[in-house]
Amino acid sequence: MLQIENKELFGKVIADALAKVELTVTDTQTKKRWINAVSKAVVEIETNGVFMTWQDDEQALLIWSQKSNHIYSANGVCQCRAFAEKTPCFHRCAARLVRLYLQAENNPAPVKTQAEEMNDAPYLKNNGWTKAERVGGIRIN
Ligand SMILES: [Zn+2]
Repeated sequence: MLQIENKELFGKVIADALAKVELTVTDTQTKKRWINAVSKAVVEIETNGVFMTWQDDEQALLIWSQKSNHIYSANGVCQCRAFAEKTPCFHRCAARLVRLYLQAENNPAPVKTQAEEMNDAPYLKNNGWTKAERVGGIRIN
C-alpha cells in the first residue's frame, strides 16, 4: 500500500514532472500524452494507492490494475499495452513520481546558513565597493 503523507512535497514533485515534460518534449502530441499520463498517475496514486507497492530493491512501483487484473511493475519500462505501443503510460509516470517523492522525503534539502545563501546569491554580498569616496571634498557614492 502506498500512502503519500507529505502532500506539499508531492505537489512539488508533480510540478517538477510537468515542468520537465514542458521543457524536454518538443512534439505537441507526445507532450499532451505525457501530461495526461502524469495527471492520471496523480489521480491513481491518490485514489488507488492501496493497490500500489513501492519496491525499493528494484526501484519499481507495483501497480495492480483492477481494470485488467494485471500487475504492472513499472520503472523505466512497463508491461502494459501503451508501453508496447511506445506511448506514454501512467504506470511509468506513477513510478517516477513515487521514486522522486520518496527520494525527496528521505533526503530533505539541507537548511542553508546565511553565508551559504550569500554564496548562492553573489549580488547580496558586500563587494567592498561601497566605501565612501570623495572627489574634491564631495562624497560621490
Ligand atoms: Zn504502463
